[in-house]
Amino acid sequence: MRRSFRFLLRPTVRQAAALAAFLEDHRQLYNAALEHRRTAYAKAGVTVRYGDQSADLKLSAGRELIAVNPADTSRTCARCGHVAKENRVTQAEFACTACGHAAHADVNAAINILRAGLALREAAQAA
Ligand SMILES: [Zn+2]
Repeated sequence: MRRSFRFLLRPTVRQAAALAAFLEDHRQLYNAALEHRRTAYAKAGVTVRYGDQSADLKLSAGRELIAVNPADTSRTCARCGHVAKENRVTQAEFACTACGHAAHADVNAAINILRAGLALREAAQAA
């Protein structure tokens, strides 16, 4: 069964900047965790699993971690929900071919990922 959820999110300039910073933090965290897994395997032959790292982080940070399917998050318009490969003008540029919404591609994708996470959390709480 596939469910879809829609939440309208129109970040202000400040919120868009905060989302971009949030995304950059996550990019760095992801790369640091990847490096840790690679180093542990290369130097000690130890397999560190992504799931274990995530569980450790969740415990240490006291934050909620929600795994989100990233499919189409970079091609979906955060304003109107239109999904198209053509929405992605360049690696950094997003411009919706349906509604004209334009944003940094990472910020647009971050909004979609946040929305998907919130929808999953809401669905889990309703179940
Ligand atoms: Zn749109």
